[in-house]
Amino acid sequence: MTRSCYHSRRLEVEAAPQAEVCEQCVATGDRWVHLRACLVCGVVGCCDNSKNRHARKHWELVGHPLVQSIEPGESWRYCFPDRQMIG
Ligand SMILES: [Zn+2]
Ligand SMILES: [Zn+2]
Ligand SMILES: [Zn+2]
Repeated sequence: MTRSCYHSRRLEVEAAPQAEVCEQCVATGDRWVHLRACLVCGVVGCCDNSKNRHARKHWELVGHPLVQSIEPGESWRYCFPDRQMIG
């Protein structure tokens, strides 16, 4: 169950987060709740509780399925297409 995500098994190198803000929200003057970073390319977007859901939109637009939380003290990863946390 925990390792049924083939996206994460295929990912050899995790990208480091490229920002400490959601730059798309900053560009439009919006706020976010939490930040997620794409594990494939490092782009940072906002979470599903945020108005703009830029992390999810990044998956929908670019097809990168995996994000990690970059909130302090959090280290979980999540797969959008599998709707599953990855250990
Ligand atoms: Zn997956
Ligand atoms: Zn955003
Ligand atoms: Zn990406």
